[in-house]
Amino acid sequence: MSGGRARPVVAIDGPAGVGKSTTARKLAAELGFVLVDTGALYRGVALAARDAGIPWTDADALGDLAAGLDLTFELAADGEPRLCIAGQDRADEIRTTDIAAGASKVATHPPVRAALLGLQRRLGAEGGVVLEGRDIGTVVFPDAEVKVFLTAAAPERAKRRVLDLAARGQAADEAEILAQIEARDAQDSGREVAPLRPAEDAVHLDSTFLGMDEVIAQIAALARTAGA
Ligand code: C5P
Repeated sequence: MSGGRARPVVAIDGPAGVGKSTTARKLAAELGFVLVDTGALYRGVALAARDAGIPWTDADALGDLAAGLDLTFELAADGEPRLCIAGQDRADEIRTTDIAAGASKVATHPPVRAALLGLQRRLGAEGGVVLEGRDIGTVVFPDAEVKVFLTAAAPERAKRRVLDLAARGQAADEAEILAQIEARDAQDSGREVAPLRPAEDAVHLDSTFLGMDEVIAQIAALARTAGA
């Protein structure tokens, strides 16, 4: 096991709306692993910046903010990790399309990424963890024992996101959501620092046609082979 870990690190990367969160949550429950939703950390920075009146374009102020933020996860009864900022549960507030767009903007700034890198590495250092995000297998844990790059066609992802928002009581227009997903894909893939791209040694899984249970079973098998 790399880095002196007793149990593997499972890195799941992929674009917005591909089903990473649900996949990662169920996988972590099945393996008895800790779950780290790294997108929630970027969303937390975007929300805290709005609280503080810092524009999502101000790289240095955002870097300082992120470096000093107290970001933690509280586990809900259903296993969902809920993001807390300075001990306050902000998990519902980070799930709006506005904060999603803000997260994608703040994530382009190197000082923000640097500030969150150490935190993500500490959260995964012991192994026995599933981390989901955009650059886990490439930057955060390039030595992860299991690396998966999850994809799905953009229209399929938009459809799923609309259902997801509806389940949270938020109405959404599918065409608008598709445009937002494509904009975030372009922003995440086109940025200079830690762009969204598969690690060379990542296993690619396309969930357009694979059911979620099948995706989870395949990743669980990889994790068990790696010592989970
Ligand atoms: O996964 P989620 O939609 O919550 O991520 C929100 C935003 O945070 C993404 O659009 C992406 O720009 C950014 N992000 C990132 N690196 C990660 C996780 C998320 O840049 N590891």
